[in-house]
Amino acid sequence: MASIAQTTISPVKGSFNLSNYDCVRKSFDWEDASKELHFWESGKVNAAYETIDRHVVDGYGDKIALHYINENEKRSLTFSEVKEKTDHYGRILKQHGVKKGDRVFIFLPKTPECYISILAVIKIGAIAGPLFEAFMEDAVKDRINDCKGTVLITDKDLVQRVQRADIPSLETILFSEDIEATPVENDREEVVEWLGKEDGLIIHYTSGSTGKPKGVLHAHRSMIHHLQSGKWVLDIKDDDVYWCTSHPGWVTGSVYGLFAPWLNRATIVIQGGRFKAENWYQLMEDLKVTTWYSAPTAFRMLMSQGDLFKNYDLSSLRHILSVGEPLNPEVIHWAWNNLGLRIHDTWWMTETGGHLIVNLPAELIKPGSMGRPFPGITVGILDDEGNELPRGEVGQLAVRAPWPGLMKEIWGNKDKFDSYFKYEGWYSSGDLALQDEDGYVFFQGRSDDMINSAGERIGPFEVESKLIEHPAVAEAGVIGKPDALRGELVKAFITLRTGFQESEELLEEIRLFVRKNLSAHAAPREIEVMNELPKTKISGKILRRKLKEWEIQKVQ
Ligand code: ATP
Ligand code: MG
Repeated sequence: MASIAQTTISPVKGSFNLSNYDCVRKSFDWEDASKELHFWESGKVNAAYETIDRHVVDGYGDKIALHYINENEKRSLTFSEVKEKTDHYGRILKQHGVKKGDRVFIFLPKTPECYISILAVIKIGAIAGPLFEAFMEDAVKDRINDCKGTVLITDKDLVQRVQRADIPSLETILFSEDIEATPVENDREEVVEWLGKEDGLIIHYTSGSTGKPKGVLHAHRSMIHHLQSGKWVLDIKDDDVYWCTSHPGWVTGSVYGLFAPWLNRATIVIQGGRFKAENWYQLMEDLKVTTWYSAPTAFRMLMSQGDLFKNYDLSSLRHILSVGEPLNPEVIHWAWNNLGLRIHDTWWMTETGGHLIVNLPAELIKPGSMGRPFPGITVGILDDEGNELPRGEVGQLAVRAPWPGLMKEIWGNKDKFDSYFKYEGWYSSGDLALQDEDGYVFFQGRSDDMINSAGERIGPFEVESKLIEHPAVAEAGVIGKPDALRGELVKAFITLRTGFQESEELLEEIRLFVRKNLSAHAAPREIEVMNELPKTKISGKILRRKLKEWEIQKVQ
């Protein structure tokens, strides 16, 4: 059995009510959960209506829906204003002939207009395809071509990266700068297109950590999952100011940056501009952010800034969450010791449409674990034949299918879609994990990342986490390097913290540190110091695939 972290962190007394969570664990039911949305009675389905218009109908039109902040601009919009703007954008799209099921791409920086465009597309029954603002020409072209997008909403700056001649399906480009001022022909026309739960909602391309990004199509039924995970995991309350740092071009930025918080009527923060530790802390102080959802890379960057947080009043902050990559125990301890808050890890994928493994606010956290299955979700650890393994053994992380947020299809690739369901009744994630006796799931790596050295299976994440516990190590990526004798040997790529110089002695010290504190067989035999680790564009995941490619090239 792989080693499991022994320490646990309990929630701060009085901050959450544990009995609520005990109750939801026992009694949660997806059917009951969906009754909280209007469509249950009206029979009319549209996720944009549920996200925004419903709150106006229910009398919350004057509540602040969003605060927007970037280096030289600051503004806020109420739910009524967001509704009116999405209606207007929707009408303009209709004037351009956009119909139910059309793919409309949105290529905009993180501005209110980006969020409004996504909702407007959904409101009129089309499928939204949000693109990350840092994508360059090929990334934009490949995605729009893949699912034959017909319309693109962008701005006069980003349009320079759109090679229109190479995107034959693209009929119309609209500029967000112009939409606002364009008059509508019929402002009384009903904008909302009523749909079925299985109709297409949004298409997201995966991060591309393991290969070509896949076009994952989600259906309107996902909003049941978004609403419930927003309520229980993000723990959204009416007076919360909620900030998700991801751009809506990534699934976290749409599901947990837009749908889940707004379905729960939260005031959200939209922050433009790049990461800068000072700006992030300042934003949290200025807007009195209560709930903050980010990623391990960002937490590690803040951690490397040491005591900087002491210059800011972060007393409004009550709930922190993380997603996207393994959350190293060291990072959890840093937040606990310095900010006095626990970081709640969450595990899910573009394909899963919502949280599947979580740390609910009131529950015990085991640093190193991603948490436990969300209520209503059953996890299995499977062997290569699809049989369930006993607790404590490492195998393929699978989930009983279906659930409301599960993808509808991989665009144009039925074989790929089917490959997730190769074991009867299960969705296979492609990640490796173990589950302990208490139900906590420990990530071990992606199936492709697992290292096999002299017959031992070694998960890169555990080694990376140990490496960054060493004071000299800022970040680490660990791979199996092909080796004639052992099959593979453990090789680590690291970056050093400021103030440390590379030397033989230091690398040996780091190696011994892992050997002593983790195990001899997992201690890296080779350590290479780099200025920077290769990462996926801005979603910032360490690309072990790249590291491995380099190593293989060197050997050849
Ligand atoms: P691609 O599928 O194109 O290779 P990707 O898998 O990185 O890219 P995403 O859907 O953005 O695309 O990411 C999902 C993956 O991210 C998961 O399969 C898992 O490997 C990793 N991940 C997500 N959350 C966590 C977490 N809390 N801990 C560890 N890993 C996580
Ligand atoms: Mg993936």
